Amino acid sequence: MGYQIPRGTQDILPGTVEKWQYVENKAREICSRYNYKEIRTPIFEHTELFLRSVGDTTDIVQKEMYTFTDRGDRSLTLRPEGTASTVRSYVENKLFGLPQQPTKLYYIGPMFRYERPQAGRYRQFVQFGIEAMGSDDPSIDAEVMALAMDVYKELGLKQLRLVLNTLGDKESRKAHRDALVAHFEPRIGEFCHDCQNRLQTNPLRILDCKKDRDHELMKTAPSIHDYLNDESRNYFETVKSTLTDMGIDFVIDPTLVRGLDYYNHTAFEIMSDAEGFGAITTLSGGGRYNGLAEEIGGPATPGIGFAMSLERLLLALDAEGVTLPIEDELDCYLVAMGEAAKEKAPSLLYQFRKAGLKADKDYMDKKIKAQFKAADRTNAKFVAVLGEDELANGVISVKEMETGNQTEVKLEEVTQYILNQI
Ligand code: ATP
Ligand code: MG
Repeated sequence: MGYQIPRGTQDILPGTVEKWQYVENKAREICSRYNYKEIRTPIFEHTELFLRSVGDTTDIVQKEMYTFTDRGDRSLTLRPEGTASTVRSYVENKLFGLPQQPTKLYYIGPMFRYERPQAGRYRQFVQFGIEAMGSDDPSIDAEVMALAMDVYKELGLKQLRLVLNTLGDKESRKAHRDALVAHFEPRIGEFCHDCQNRLQTNPLRILDCKKDRDHELMKTAPSIHDYLNDESRNYFETVKSTLTDMGIDFVIDPTLVRGLDYYNHTAFEIMSDAEGFGAITTLSGGGRYNGLAEEIGGPATPGIGFAMSLERLLLALDAEGVTLPIEDELDCYLVAMGEAAKEKAPSLLYQFRKAGLKADKDYMDKKIKAQFKAADRTNAKFVAVLGEDELANGVISVKEMETGNQTEVKLEEVTQYILNQI
């Protein structure tokens, strides 16, 4: 039977990979418009970083990390998300000291979580995310959400919902936390094992529980909105009014909490309302994490970001029936007839390619008919046919596939001729 790919991973083959490249290019293009620069960090980090930053009460840390000991007896973990590494790098490289602030970064790369695989949930998946560090201006919260929405919208998605909430600042969260404990404690026995643990460690996350989401106490749970201090309330109002001014639609969901420990103030998710998208409707999530840089040994630094997986983005494109305008055809396929023409072909093809043409030829010693078929398969715009007679006369015949027009061109002019046509 041979070897099989590990569960929850994918091979992305030619024919599909073009979609990935298209989407990645779009993300990069939008980042450059918003002045976010790429950062590339290692695929693995010291395990301690994730315990510290993601938080040891989260699903990621408790159940999902790929952790291993290397030959030097260090505990390392394949990164489950991108924020921790980005903030680690920001602190380690003292990016906060650069004159240009805030520091606006983006990343695209594989993340690893030991999860039960299903549509939209993999063990290796690619996240595109951004982080803006150093500013607590509410307009950057709006910018981060706008950028995420732009990626989806510009790719052609329409059935999108931006869901917004605030988690308040430390003080508001503390008051809310106490209220949550008081609310759930008397009947915590009716909740799942995880929620029972969460009651003391992180009661906010009870609201995020997938098993107990229909319990009656969930609907009556105290809302963070009743515990916001003035500063947190004002912050939230400004974020909302900025989005409104920008013409970006959103809905408020007071029960939206994020899985990770380090969030405060703004929290948001972008959902797909497309029919057939499946059980998982969240396309991306993000929020503000003031305090994270300090938590991992840096200066107190406000920060905000989001992450989306490209897997879910591509699923949403399928669900909405969006076809990406991918151009993958060759400019020219070179057909050679006869020994002398075959000998001439490699250098002629090389000349095409050096001039910037996307070009190819046969390498399977195919008959003429089969060479034309191969040319068809590559969707070549032009087929250049080099036969014995043409070669002897120093010419080549060039056929435009769309019109069927065929022209004889001097060999030394053929490259320029095709360049002029495309
Ligand atoms: P979920 O509730 O779906 O488990 P999460 O809270 O774990 O999501 P985040 O940690 O916020 O997700 O990650 C941000 C984004 O990364 C998600 O919105 C989703 O697009 C994507 N994502 C997370 N886990 C996976 C996975 N296992 N496979 C594919 N994409 C994922
Ligand atoms: Mg998850």
